[in-house]
Amino acid sequence: MSKFNFTGLECVSCRHRLESDFSGYVCPRCGNNLRVLYDLDRVKAWREAGKFPARGRTDLLRYGAVLPVAEERFYPDLRVGGTPLYERAAMARELGLGALYLKDDGLNPSGSLKDRASAAVVAVAAVRGVRLVAAASTGNAGSSMACMAAAAGLSSIIMVPQSAPPAKIAQLLVFGAQVVAVKGSYDDAFDLCLRLSERHGWFNRNTGYNPFTREGKKTVIYEVVEQLEGAAPDWVVVPVGDGNIISAVGKGLREMQQIGMIRRLPRLLAAQAATSDAISRTVAAARSRNFSGDELDRNLPSLIQTVRGAHTVADSICVDLPRDGVAAVWEILHSQGEAVTATDEEILQAVAELGRKAAVFVEPAAAVTWAALRKAVAAGIVEKGARVVCLLTGSGLKDISAAQKAAGSPLVVPPDEAAVEEALGLAGRP
Ligand SMILES: *Cc1c(COP(=O)(O)O)cnc(C)c1O
Ligand SMILES: [Zn+2]
Repeated sequence: MSKFNFTGLECVSCRHRLESDFSGYVCPRCGNNLRVLYDLDRVKAWREAGKFPARGRTDLLRYGAVLPVAEERFYPDLRVGGTPLYERAAMARELGLGALYLKDDGLNPSGSLKDRASAAVVAVAAVRGVRLVAAASTGNAGSSMACMAAAAGLSSIIMVPQSAPPAKIAQLLVFGAQVVAVKGSYDDAFDLCLRLSERHGWFNRNTGYNPFTREGKKTVIYEVVEQLEGAAPDWVVVPVGDGNIISAVGKGLREMQQIGMIRRLPRLLAAQAATSDAISRTVAAARSRNFSGDELDRNLPSLIQTVRGAHTVADSICVDLPRDGVAAVWEILHSQGEAVTATDEEILQAVAELGRKAAVFVEPAAAVTWAALRKAVAAGIVEKGARVVCLLTGSGLKDISAAQKAAGSPLVVPPDEAAVEEALGLAGRP
C-alpha cells in the first residue's frame, strides 16, 4: 500500500490530473502549479465517526488525514502547529469589528508559519527516500526547511538574497544548512535554485513550485476553525508575497466545507506591501474581466502581474513574480475576497501597535495584516461588526532592525537616579 495519503494531483489551470506517484512538480501539459487531492468523502465519514481531527494531538498531525503523508514516523520530531489564537476585544472595538482574533504562528519551532510547509515536505521526502532538500527563500522558508531537515537528519541547501535579515541567515547556519547568499533578489535565488535542482536532481521545496507546501500551510486554518469551535470568521486576513499561504488557506477552507466542518466560506483579505503588490493588481485585473469559472481557470496564468524590483521593509512578502499567483488569485476571487496594500510606514506602525495593543511581537510581513485590515475597514471592504482573523505569520525576533525602526530607541542615561527621573519626566516630583 502506498504511504501517500492523497489520491492524486490536478493542475490549477488546465485541471489535468496526475497519479499520486507523479514525481514532477508542475503540470506536464501547461507548466502551471499542481494541487493535491484527497478522498474527502472518506474524511467526512471519519469526522462523523469522531476520528477526524485526530484526538489527543495538538500539532499539525491532528489533520494527518488531509496531509500528503499521514504517518507520524515520517515527520520531524518537533512541535509544528498548535499555535495560540488570541482574541483582542479592544482592537476590535477600535475598528468597529464584531471580534478580532490573532493567530500567532511566530510560535512555531523556527519562528514562522513556514514550518507547517517544511514539515509536510520533509514527510514527502522521507517517504520517497530523499536525502537532500534544496530551497530558495526570502529567509523564513529556508530557515524553516533547515530546521525541519535538521530534525529529520536530511541535508539542505538554501539560497537566499544576500539582503535577507541577518537573524534569518544566522538561523540557517545554526541549523546546519549549506547557505548560499545570492547577490541579487529573491526572484534571482528562486530561478537559480530551480535550475540547479533540475541539473543535480535535488528535491526542491521552492514555495509555489513544490505542491506539498500548501498542504502543510493549510493546517493553520483548520486550527483556527477548531479554536473558534466551528464558528468560521467572516474574514481571514493573510499576508501575501508568492501567494502560497493564502492559496493554502482558501484550499483548507473549501476542504473543511466539503468535510462538513464549516457551512459558509469566510472571505479572504490579501494583505500586501504597496511596493510588492503583484497579487493585488492581478485580483483587480481578473475582476475587471468578469470571466466565468472555466474561462477564469484558463485565463488566469496570462493575467498574473509582476513588479519590477520589488522592495519593502516586509522582506518575507517581497517578490517580483508571485510563484503561486494563479492558485492565490483563484482562491481570493472564489471567496469573494479582496486585496489591500499598506505602505512601509503603515507596516512599521502596525509592528509597534501589535506589540503595544496585542502583546505580540511580529516581523513586518505579519504586521501587514493589521495595517491592511485598518485600511479595508476604512474603505468599507470589511464591514463593521465583522468577525476577523489575522494570520500573524512570523516572529519579530526574525528582523530586529525593522523592530527598532518601528519602536524607536530607549532613554539613555548615566547611572544616576536624578538623571533617570529627569529622563522619565519625574524631575522635581516626590
Ligand atoms: C512567506 C511568508 C509570508 C508570505 O507567504 P507567501 O506564500 O509568499 O504569500 C508572509 N509572512 C511571513 C512571515 C512569511 O514568512
Ligand atoms: Zn495544466
